[in-house]
Amino acid sequence: MPNASTPSSLPTEVAELLQRLGVPRDAYTGGSLPVRSPVTGEQIAAVAETSTAQAAEAIGRAHAAYLTWRNVPAPRRGELVRLLGEELRLHKADLGRLVTLEAGKVPSEGAGEVQEMIDICDFAVGLSRQLYGLTIATERAEHRMMETWHPLGVVGVISAFNFPVAVWSWNAALALVCGDPVVWKPSEKTPLTALATHAIAQRAIARFGADAPEGLLDLLIGQRDIGEVLVDDHRVPVLSATGSTAMGRQVAPKLAARFARAILELGGNNAAIVAPSADLDLALRGIAFAAMGTAGQRCTTLRRLFVHDSVYDALVPKLAKVYASVQVGDPREAGTLVGPLIDRAAFDGMQKALGECRELGATVHGGQRVDGIGTQDAYYVRPALVELKSHAGPALRETFAPILYVVRYASFDEAIEWHNAVGAGLSSSIFTLDMREAERFMSAAGSDCGIANVNIGPSGAEIGGAFGGEKETGGGREAGSDAWKAYMRRATNTINYSTALPLAQGVTFDI
Ligand code: NAD
Repeated sequence: MPNASTPSSLPTEVAELLQRLGVPRDAYTGGSLPVRSPVTGEQIAAVAETSTAQAAEAIGRAHAAYLTWRNVPAPRRGELVRLLGEELRLHKADLGRLVTLEAGKVPSEGAGEVQEMIDICDFAVGLSRQLYGLTIATERAEHRMMETWHPLGVVGVISAFNFPVAVWSWNAALALVCGDPVVWKPSEKTPLTALATHAIAQRAIARFGADAPEGLLDLLIGQRDIGEVLVDDHRVPVLSATGSTAMGRQVAPKLAARFARAILELGGNNAAIVAPSADLDLALRGIAFAAMGTAGQRCTTLRRLFVHDSVYDALVPKLAKVYASVQVGDPREAGTLVGPLIDRAAFDGMQKALGECRELGATVHGGQRVDGIGTQDAYYVRPALVELKSHAGPALRETFAPILYVVRYASFDEAIEWHNAVGAGLSSSIFTLDMREAERFMSAAGSDCGIANVNIGPSGAEIGGAFGGEKETGGGREAGSDAWKAYMRRATNTINYSTALPLAQGVTFDI
């Protein structure tokens, strides 16, 4: 444990990882952006920032790359993504470790994030031969109608600190096979993992050869003003922005004003219902991971729990015991399940929400700071379980920290009503063995979220499904299913192979 007299080995380990991952030393030493590890609270690097002029140049290079890349056959573009997946496999351990050190995730989650990158690469390689359009029945004789999908242009990616590398890969793997260059502005809190990912991608490009134009993948390091360059540049026809709903509120109107496509992946306030028939042991495990995993810093973290009156006393005291005993600590230590909060602002936000709960007369279990790990700038907390008397107060908004609000419910309709009564609409789940309840939860009259699960928690999505949510979560979809369509433009083609010129709807125009 580092203090003034025992210097930490963490900055050295970070430098060694960056070197092995191929990041040039001058990219992370002597720059103007300090990087702090949430694990110990110490500064681990000083990253060189991109100027707004350099950002505009990178977009220009990416646009020029688009004019070439769009003509490379999609299966050949898929070959680049295959190589990217290979490079990620080779560097999974190092990149996963860097995620742990820079974002504070426990090792299995750090490695899991890189696995997610590999998974989406595999998915996109297959997709590169399946960018299917339809053939459509036409009403005119000797005509054919079809749709074709074409590359769209430069994809801007703005990402959040909590999935510092996976979010880029969800976008980049699809964008590349769809024929689009990518310019990425990662979170200012996690630039090192972005530099490492960029270096890995450049190796894949080098192996791919001359078909990959210069500027195909670029990286902009900086604060929100650098993100704004991507938002405002008309050469970026689609912007994928992951972060808080507050960020989305700033970005969305600007994109709308220039008619750019927005893929918005914003905040969540995810809930689960525990019904009378639930398998309570399974529910307990599902809730524990979903609510406390990643120290409550996933967009899909379980934040609200509606427990039926009849099972409340069988479940909630057990849950409180798990909250009191779960191992909080340095993510590098074996057995740790809950690592640090990203920074002081996250800690303050959590304490503010808990204070409001106490004023509402709630019973608060946990939530206090866990001292003695790292420096005073490392923020570890015991996850908080809050028994609320009603669905109110801070439960109605996202606080990006491990707080689980628990509320009793009496009727299924009431639970669904509360479930949907918040701004966000990302992920949701129900624990029930009652088929009618499960189906109603997933029906048009059930959960209003983009993700609705049964007998698993709301977090931990696979890449095969489309990922994203409704309402204040922004409506975007990324990763699997047909999310690729957001990165391409659709053309409807009608071909006349007759000698006549029949007009649609029987219109005549005889000249
Ligand atoms: P944040 O909103 O503070 O920052 C996210 C990114 O947006 C950063 O790169 C930041 O520099 C940039 N940014 C902020 N304002 C901007 C602006 N006006 N113009 C351009 N860029 C701007 O979010 P955070 O604290 O890094 O991440 C936590 C939040 O992200 C939570 O709300 C979480 O739910 C959300 N999140 C959502 C998803 C999802 O898929 N829905 C995934 C991960 C995180």
